[in-house]
Amino acid sequence: GKGAAMVTAVAYRLATQHAERQRVLDALRLSREQLLEVKRRMGEEINRGLAKESHDQATVKMLPTYVRSTPDGTEHGDFLALDLGGTNFRVLLVRVRGGKRRSVEMHNKIYAIPQEAMQGTGEELFDHIVHCIADFLEYMGMKGASLPLGFTFSFPCHQNKLDQGILLKWTKGFKATGCEGEDVVSLLKDAIHRREEFDLDVVAVVNDTVGTMMTCGYEDPLCEVGLIVGTGTNACYMEEMQNVELVEGDEGRMCVNMEWGAFGDHGELDDFSTEFDRAVDDCATNPGKQRYEKMISGMYLGEIVRNILLEFTAKGLLFRGKLSERLKTRGIFETKFLSQIESDRLALRQVRSILQHLGLTSSTCDDSILVKEVCSVVARRAAQLCGAGLAAVVDKIRQNRNLSELKITVGVDGTLYKLHPHFSSIMHETVRDLAPQCEVTFLQSEDGSGKGAALITAVACRIRDMSY
Ligand code: BGC
Ligand code: MG
Repeated sequence: GKGAAMVTAVAYRLATQHAERQRVLDALRLSREQLLEVKRRMGEEINRGLAKESHDQATVKMLPTYVRSTPDGTEHGDFLALDLGGTNFRVLLVRVRGGKRRSVEMHNKIYAIPQEAMQGTGEELFDHIVHCIADFLEYMGMKGASLPLGFTFSFPCHQNKLDQGILLKWTKGFKATGCEGEDVVSLLKDAIHRREEFDLDVVAVVNDTVGTMMTCGYEDPLCEVGLIVGTGTNACYMEEMQNVELVEGDEGRMCVNMEWGAFGDHGELDDFSTEFDRAVDDCATNPGKQRYEKMISGMYLGEIVRNILLEFTAKGLLFRGKLSERLKTRGIFETKFLSQIESDRLALRQVRSILQHLGLTSSTCDDSILVKEVCSVVARRAAQLCGAGLAAVVDKIRQNRNLSELKITVGVDGTLYKLHPHFSSIMHETVRDLAPQCEVTFLQSEDGSGKGAALITAVACRIRDMSY
């Protein structure tokens, strides 16, 4: 009768809605073949970035770092380190002791970088940084001290030597004017001179990936890769000098800062990206740039999720089809949220209360299930893409050394990697699957970027002192 017809109609509507949702999400699910293709293309870009003749056109810049070896444990002394470009800006004092009782002791203070400093003039940004250094020295009771300084500056820099870093382009929401194309060491020194209060001996500019590799290398000599999955993403590794065509010499190895976040900027990822990725890219401070990073790192995943939820709502598949102002607001889903919502210990009731906390009040139980599924699909894709890139890196190292099996350690840092409940395991699984000839161990770094910058500075000072 009429009742049965209605039941059928409802069942039919639910089934089409389900199919509709899955159709949207399927575009974000990558097959093994697709991931292998990502790995292959990354491998190609690695070679293009390293070679002199293709370097200028390559998206993955493979920047020489002038770091030629991991620490050997004999480093020692007191160093200052700056860490700019991650979740927090920090100033650190690092005491490195060498020999049998080797240890690294650190004191640090976190400072906020106000939006105005990030997006104003370069002078304002560097004046603020120097103000923080002055505050730190005072706080440590070290006013007037002039220690060697390592500057962890987590942006793409062209280096001709260790103590220079010409900023190629800002990433991760920074856009202070007058910095791109300039040496950040000069910008820092100029700001120090403007203040006329103290002097500093800037010894090294270090990418956070390199700092992380060095820190983990201090514990594990097999660590020859550094990986960051936090606000942004990037990797570095020890490459044969012979392949580092931008630098004279064929002996030994040099750490190369890949800047893999820019992978995809010439369309290499277009086959795998979605309308949601394009929407996120369009609204970023750097449209068209860092396309791989925008599919992987913490600064962007929440925005991908929000754009998918917008689409579902517009189609009447979520939040009873009601588009709230809240959902239209950029940046409401922080990385923290992605980690929380996917936590296995969380009951659906709690997912709902997180949504309510975000101001998305009209949610039902089904809504919570769907939101959780969206988060999980987006994070899985990120972890797999990251794993595919890393598989290309470890296989490259294996081939460099003509090995059928390679044992290697990857030092890792970054909030997404450390705090997300599933990201790391999916990423590990992907690397294992796509680079079966490599036995990869992952080592989490404790405070990699600051400590690493100090270690690199220590090595540089040791060598400098030797040559006097
Ligand atoms: C930067 C890299 C950095 C990475 C992780 C990217 O946006 O370009 O230099 O290593 O973020 O912090
Ligand atoms: Mg060379």
